[in-house]
Amino acid sequence: MAAGSDCLFCRIASGELPATRVAEDERTITFMDINPATRGHVLVIPRAHAADLMEISGEDLAACAAAAQRIARVMPERLGADGVNVLNSCGRAAWQTVFHFHVHVIPRYEADPLRLPWTPGPGDRDEVAEAARALEG
Ligand code: AMP
Ligand code: ZN
Repeated sequence: MAAGSDCLFCRIASGELPATRVAEDERTITFMDINPATRGHVLVIPRAHAADLMEISGEDLAACAAAAQRIARVMPERLGADGVNVLNSCGRAAWQTVFHFHVHVIPRYEADPLRLPWTPGPGDRDEVAEAARALEG
């Protein structure tokens, strides 16, 4: 999918579409996944459009990896996470559904019911907002 108004995450990056942002830097934005696999599931995207892992620049990939590590590191203390899954899907066959590169950072909890791939379903709004507040800053 092309960059710009055709791309969902470009529209989030530009502010045209809303998202619950919890961290940002020069190259990346981290925001809450709208259909969280677990409480506190976030996505890290580059501001610059790249469809997938094949296309993204090394600099933006490194920036996304660093941002994913920063948010993962606060998940145990802020959310009580016992572990974290970091996941990227590249290509339809690998379950990619949004064609603007993103890294899933998924906090895991002892005995949580998540099995990969998860079945996306609407999150509890209050729980998403509470997890976002815990992760911000
Ligand atoms: P993937 O299937 O790996 O391409 O992941 C796409 C992710 O984007 C899914 O986990 C969706 O829940 C998430 N998603 C789709 N639309 C939005 C949105 N508007 N805001 C936040 N997350 C979204
Ligand atoms: Zn895009």
